[in-house]
Amino acid sequence: MQLINAQLKKLFKDSIDQIVGANGLTTKCLIRYGSLNHQLCNNCKFDPITKSSSNIYNGTGPAAFDDYQICPVCLGQGRLEHTDTDTLYLAVLFDSKYWLKTSAPVNIADGTMQTISPISTMLQIRAANDLKIDSDLKNYGNYIYERASDPEPAGLGSADYVITMWKRK
Ligand SMILES: [Zn+2]
Repeated sequence: MQLINAQLKKLFKDSIDQIVGANGLTTKCLIRYGSLNHQLCNNCKFDPITKSSSNIYNGTGPAAFDDYQICPVCLGQGRLEHTDTDTLYLAVLFDSKYWLKTSAPVNIADGTMQTISPISTMLQIRAANDLKIDSDLKNYGNYIYERASDPEPAGLGSADYVITMWKRK
């Protein structure tokens, strides 16, 4: 007897596809990566000798200023600190009743949630420093989440999805 046959696998995949697919029950999430980048200011000309702003407007930036005044965007630093982010659409499950089983033991506490997403999001989730649910829905609150487990590939027979546990920061 074959418990998990091709038909069941397809049924499983189709139903999860519906949840995590572009038109599914996904929620917009903002992923923030840990490393800070220092990008050159987009408003002034950079002076490679002093390694700071030359205090000359670059002609294309958002805030024009007179030559040799202090650039209003980088305040003369010539560089901007910025954290890389990504927007991902994840199926977000707060109710542990609906969680898919993972191998990692999970402490079911308030503020724990599970996300399910296509396997293509694996690297981004693994690299994420934290996650913010980018939704107007009030019941999500304004919380930041950090990973409570490594993202785990899931699927029947093939790893089509990734399941991740998160906890409130
Ligand atoms: Zn600048």
